[in-house]
Amino acid sequence: AAGDLPQLSEDDPTATSLGYVHDATSVDTSKYPRYQAGQQCSNCALYQGAADSEWAGCSIFPGKAVKATGWCSVYAPKG
Ligand code: SF4
Repeated sequence: AAGDLPQLSEDDPTATSLGYVHDATSVDTSKYPRYQAGQQCSNCALYQGAADSEWAGCSIFPGKAVKATGWCSVYAPKG
């Protein structure tokens, strides 16, 4: 189950290159100007968990769980 996946580290090289952080409100908007308040993993199209799950898989980070409150530069709003 996705809940059993190891949690993605912010220090993971892919996480770093995509600007992933556990707390979307801490996104560096000078580096990622496309970030908009309210965007976070739990409302991203690539989030594989239920809307109320705290951590879940993401197709960008196979084998890892991302935090519901997180964000990365691949963010895409849920359809
Ligand atoms: Fe979060 Fe979406 Fe980035 Fe995955 S692609 S880490 S769900 S913002």
